[in-house]
Amino acid sequence: MSKIINKNRLKFIPYGRQYIDKEDIQEVVKVLKSDFLTQGPKIPEFEEKLAGYCGSRYAVVFNSGTSALHGAYFALGLGKGDEFITSPITFVATANAGLYLGAKPVFVDVESDTGNIDASKIEKKITKRTRLITPVHYAGHPVDLDRIRDIATRHKLFVVEDACHALGAKYSHQSKTNNWTKIGSCSHSDMTVLSFHPVKHITTGEGGAVLTTNKDFYKKLVMFRSHGITKDKTLFTNYDNLHNYNNYGIHSNLISHVDDWYYEMQSLGYNYRMTDIQAALGISQLRKLDTFVEKRRAIADVYRKAFLNNTYFDIPTEKDYAYSSYHLYAIRLKDKYKNRKKEIFARMRKIGLGVQVHYIPVYLQPYYRELGYKNGSCPVAEDFYHKEISLPMFPGLKHKDIKTVIEKVLTVFNS
Ligand SMILES: *Cc1c(COP(=O)(O)O)cnc(C)c1O
Repeated sequence: MSKIINKNRLKFIPYGRQYIDKEDIQEVVKVLKSDFLTQGPKIPEFEEKLAGYCGSRYAVVFNSGTSALHGAYFALGLGKGDEFITSPITFVATANAGLYLGAKPVFVDVESDTGNIDASKIEKKITKRTRLITPVHYAGHPVDLDRIRDIATRHKLFVVEDACHALGAKYSHQSKTNNWTKIGSCSHSDMTVLSFHPVKHITTGEGGAVLTTNKDFYKKLVMFRSHGITKDKTLFTNYDNLHNYNNYGIHSNLISHVDDWYYEMQSLGYNYRMTDIQAALGISQLRKLDTFVEKRRAIADVYRKAFLNNTYFDIPTEKDYAYSSYHLYAIRLKDKYKNRKKEIFARMRKIGLGVQVHYIPVYLQPYYRELGYKNGSCPVAEDFYHKEISLPMFPGLKHKDIKTVIEKVLTVFNS
């Protein structure tokens, strides 16, 4: 053990990390030298390419995954008095975005193996106030979308996929050899939300997106992102009231410019826009997405072979309906090691493994406790939290590093 520690004393392998190459940098520099740093041509180009990749009709990019979630919930009209169902094993933003609008998150327990929302427990939590289900594709492993869609349809609920972990993942309702649908196609949902934070599959520094096939949602998202303002003439509602003069006598070659100054603010929006600098990075990153996902899956395969049948922890599973994009490699300690999690985690950190824990169940956060959420309400999620450790998983991880991680992980348990 001491040999391994000494050899790598100064090295710290994080659990996730961006991959930026020369082309990414060049694309960003080009925008810096151009006329538009924001609201220029790179935004629609990124949106078109993102929608094209995922197979959805529209993409609306935002300045974070969190603001994208806020936009998605706003677009479907979530508000005061409404409830929405989600998973407690997620980043707080999934639930917070509903709180912004005055809606109440209702947490449904998770599956012990995937960490995804347990579809069999959803219906018990549906009330007259429920409007929406927000499943989270935890660690990049898709939820069983057929089951969620079926429940939502029977109870007339919206579905927003939190796919912040799952860009590049695929879902199939049959078997692995059967018709795969990309996460983000919205084949089973009203909207799908992505994040471009540096630990996610592709990055724009900070950034996010909402994908949808619904034109009304699309229009609302675009306005919400930019103060609730529109410049689209076909949407104006107040132009004639405001201008009781007419265009008579104005030369015909001026007509197309007569109201160039005019815009309308029709709802209370935010400034949630992404910059063109970021969009250029996103476009360049998107070209590499498939390679990134392949790399993540190859790393998962090396881990799987190295850790198969070990007696210390369970490794991630991949269900028949899932092609995971492995945002995380989440191991779960066996019951007999659960009480040693703190020590195991600390020992891993001590020897340079940048392990992390995903996640503290959202409702156990002090803010949620103040709102009245109680511990014990999702026992599987709490158990999952006490067992889970995320090992390093990112496309830039070298073969040598993977070997080091495997050695060090086993060292911690063997000593
Ligand atoms: C990262 C993440 C978010 C929020 O995205 P940001 O871009 O960091 O705002 C939301 N949900 C999940 C599951 C995430 O992992």
